[in-house]
Amino acid sequence: MTAKKPLPQKTCPTCGRPFSWRKKWQNCWDEVVHCSERCRRNRNRNRASDGDRAELRKPR
Ligand SMILES: [Zn+2]
Repeated sequence: MTAKKPLPQKTCPTCGRPFSWRKKWQNCWDEVVHCSERCRRNRNRNRASDGDRAELRKPR
């Protein structure tokens, strides 16, 4: 039996979701921070359109 190694994972700071290693990152995984290029571009403007962040503003 050969147990496959689990893929490494990181958490995207833009969307706050975990993402797994992809082959296209095999040479630069250490430098990968965001789950996608879209998140990488949105990192500076993640106010609107990010429903997950609404949790931070939830009224008590
Ligand atoms: Zn993301």
